[in-house]
Amino acid sequence: MTLNAAVETAKARAAGNAKWIRAIDRAAAGLQSGELIVTLLAHDALVTSPNGSYRVNGSCHCAAAQNGHRERYHRAAVRLTEMLEAAPVVAPAPRITRSIERNYRGPAITVYRAGCFTV
Ligand SMILES: [Zn+2]
Repeated sequence: MTLNAAVETAKARAAGNAKWIRAIDRAAAGLQSGELIVTLLAHDALVTSPNGSYRVNGSCHCAAAQNGHRERYHRAAVRLTEMLEAAPVVAPAPRITRSIERNYRGPAITVYRAGCFTV
């Protein structure tokens, strides 16, 4: 999943909630510029921004959140990063080819190749 796809999905889920839409836009801009760095940990995440690093786990412990401003873009950044990392990696379909080896008497052996392996 690309960041743009994650942003579209997140906005679709937040439809009608203007505060979350703004938070998602701000988070996406921060992730894109490198201003926000999200490190996913086992039970929470670490968000590093120019104002410091914060552990984010459902809620955020940054100064704005503690002052009651319900700062959301750190949480939005974590969610976007989770979506990016959870997206399944699409493996290329294995290519199985068959070739018939010939010798002077005609077809001798059939060889199947799946990807780079000879079966
Ligand atoms: Zn925050």
